[in-house]
Amino acid sequence: MEFDLKCTLLFNKSLNDAREPLTDFVQEANKSNPEKFHIQSWLIEDNKLSLHLLSRDVIRAHVYLLQLKKKLDTLLGKKNHLGLRGIKLDDYHILFDLDTIPLEEIKIPFAQIDIKKKTVSLRIQDKDEEFLTQNYIDRMINLVREKAHFQRYKGKKEDWKLLWESSQKKPLWFKDPTEALSHLGWIEQGPTKGKWFFRPPAAAIMCAMAQIAIEKVLQPLNFQEVIPSMHVPLTTWLKTGHLEGMPGEIYYISEPVTRDVKKWETFIDLLKIKKEIPIKEFSQMISTPKAGICYAQCPNIYWSFSGKTIAESSLPLLLYDRSVPSARYESGGRHGIERVDEFHRIEIVYIGTKNQLLDIKEKLIEKYRMVFNDIMDLEWRMAQVTPFYLQQAGQIIEEEPNAGTIDFEAWLPYRGDRDTPWLELQNVSIVGEKYIRAFNIKTQKSILWSGCSGIGLERWTTAFLAQKGIDPKKWPPSFQKFLSDLPSSPEFL
Ligand code: ATP
Ligand code: ZN
Ligand code: MG
Repeated sequence: MEFDLKCTLLFNKSLNDAREPLTDFVQEANKSNPEKFHIQSWLIEDNKLSLHLLSRDVIRAHVYLLQLKKKLDTLLGKKNHLGLRGIKLDDYHILFDLDTIPLEEIKIPFAQIDIKKKTVSLRIQDKDEEFLTQNYIDRMINLVREKAHFQRYKGKKEDWKLLWESSQKKPLWFKDPTEALSHLGWIEQGPTKGKWFFRPPAAAIMCAMAQIAIEKVLQPLNFQEVIPSMHVPLTTWLKTGHLEGMPGEIYYISEPVTRDVKKWETFIDLLKIKKEIPIKEFSQMISTPKAGICYAQCPNIYWSFSGKTIAESSLPLLLYDRSVPSARYESGGRHGIERVDEFHRIEIVYIGTKNQLLDIKEKLIEKYRMVFNDIMDLEWRMAQVTPFYLQQAGQIIEEEPNAGTIDFEAWLPYRGDRDTPWLELQNVSIVGEKYIRAFNIKTQKSILWSGCSGIGLERWTTAFLAQKGIDPKKWPPSFQKFLSDLPSSPEFL
């Protein structure tokens, strides 16, 4: 890497009397590591000192400058009673190499970027001191690397490695459950995009799925229920990475600007007169979102432990939430009840030592296997996939071989033969120390790991109905133990 930095240091008064100590200072600095650092030139103009620094490799001029600044401040303060008021970054030129030649143009804020083969020339001009003190520059360099990395990664096929598959099962029908349930009036699409109303028979099936998950998976493994908030602050997603990973999939929440009825008067009057929503007035009455609707339940669960030290005797923490729905802006991807904008998941979160988590992972998989094989009698499979936290952000993270995500998928006969895409029912993830670090969660001695597993109730329902049909009499007897008679649905004339 090569660094070429021009900056101006501002003092409280003229530097004219400080030429001598400055000459010595520059000479001294230039002796410290002549191979890697050099003050190319310096110039005094009244109370301004302009510096031109050159450095390479591990000595990053923007970091070194802060050290020089400190020394100068002390030196000139003592000798000449000068006070340093600030630094302006005039022109900074950084050259560095990427691992591979990028596939497309790369742009980032605050810098001009020019890339020749693998070499990036990054140019930053006219910036304040915060650029140096807040570590923006290193993050900008990393961002360029991340974007180049992601361009390659995007081009690759998603990592998908089959781990296990069930025997083939003869489907009992070939219909799309959403169409069949809609036709019967058991579900109703809406009231807004990607949402559904489940009437009693459909609700009973969803509830049976939840009951199976709780009674056959979570309770036997001693998971305990928690009730988190449905609102997730943006600051929490900043920590988990969701905000940089999927900002376009979140439903954001606006607070009203005020609760004062008087201030809402015009809005109410317009509403009463026009009998339609006065959008312009309305948009002035709601504030910029500071939170969003739950995307996955785990961030708020992690948040609840932030900064805490958990007693070793409480480990592993085994928790689940079933009360908070998840919302995602799926846009073009929406389909039926299986890919919706509001869905119902049981999310389970586990925090413990690495060995505890690897043990839980195995036990969970065993229980899930029992549910899909012995209760639902599904044709399904497990695959190792790219962890969700790596999918969108393209972050460069050291892979820990024991961390990662396993997807559970089921065949949907209505889509066609077994080569058509299968439906992801749920996953089991071990995320290593990522969230533990993000929320500063500790225990007495051990290093903590965490992980989560999201059971999609709409997905379990769709997979089961798609393979077994909607006549309870034809369902496997093991499933009928949980639900054998469906409640009636209102008849519509
Ligand atoms: P997909 O690849 O199907 O979009 P995902 O990787 O986005 O799934 P995760 O974020 O891993 O899903 O969420 C875990 C579980 O939540 C999924 O396995 C699934 O059961 C459920 N889920 C996710 N998105 C939806 C959705 N739009 N509708 C219904 N269930 C969903
Ligand atoms: Zn999660
Ligand atoms: Mg998704």
